[in-house]
Amino acid sequence: MSRHVIVTGANRGIGRAIAEAFVAQGDTVSTIYRGGDLPEGVDGAIADVTDTDAVNAAFDQLEERHGRVRVLVANAGVTKDGLLMRMSDEDFERVVDVNLTGTFRCVRRAVNSMLRERFGRIVLVGSVVGLMGNPGQVNYSSSKAALVGMARSITREVGARGITANVIAPGFITTAMTAELPEATVKQYEATIPAKRFGAVEEVAAAATYLGSDAAGYVSGAVLPVDGGLGMGH
Ligand code: NDP
Repeated sequence: MSRHVIVTGANRGIGRAIAEAFVAQGDTVSTIYRGGDLPEGVDGAIADVTDTDAVNAAFDQLEERHGRVRVLVANAGVTKDGLLMRMSDEDFERVVDVNLTGTFRCVRRAVNSMLRERFGRIVLVGSVVGLMGNPGQVNYSSSKAALVGMARSITREVGARGITANVIAPGFITTAMTAELPEATVKQYEATIPAKRFGAVEEVAAAATYLGSDAAGYVSGAVLPVDGGLGMGH
């Protein structure tokens, strides 16, 4: 049976690859996104994840068209890097509002449907830097670390109702987000990654389809690294 999968931010990058992977395996896939073109076979409703009413309205629209959501991949995220001493309240709060509170808004609405279905797969896109830290990313790494606590609390709250919640922790993946990095920094990062390369979006998508699968029903509260070995032990 085709399942309704919602991926936030499927217009580009990792979210786009995740949406394409669920489409390829026969799921009904939709996205909550801010604009841009969508992959073949992916329906969309416009919302900014920082706007609670817009998020709820987008879920309503998509569920009316495709049935209750069974899999949520909370992928939408931003960076606004800067050294701690120079980071403004606005730059800290903006990143937390998108990456953490935005994820919370989507999860809260999705769980409402999943409880009725007595089935749900929640996949949160975290980051290796949420576990290891990274200079210049106090805001971003804090927002991503918090997703681990979120997945584990959801697991304890609704784990008995057929709902799982897990975090994927990608390392450095080739997308627009990492394209902003200076070449010297890329070389420096590559040297520290055991796989000696950045990852591909398809490699993150493979982890998302696994954690979103019916078969992963006994995996919850886990953090699955997709980082070429960068974060081992964290
Ligand atoms: P991109 O910058 O390519 O894509 C980010 C996506 O998030 C876009 O679809 C963007 O929409 C969406 N988004 C951002 N802000 C909002 C918002 N307020 N409301 C709705 N959608 C929003 O990044 P990646 O594909 O690289 O990253 C995807 C996820 O993976 C992020 O959570 C990121 O933190 C995480 N990640 C990425 C890594 C990497 O190396 N690339 C490593 C570890 C984690 P729009 O096009 O409208 O801006």
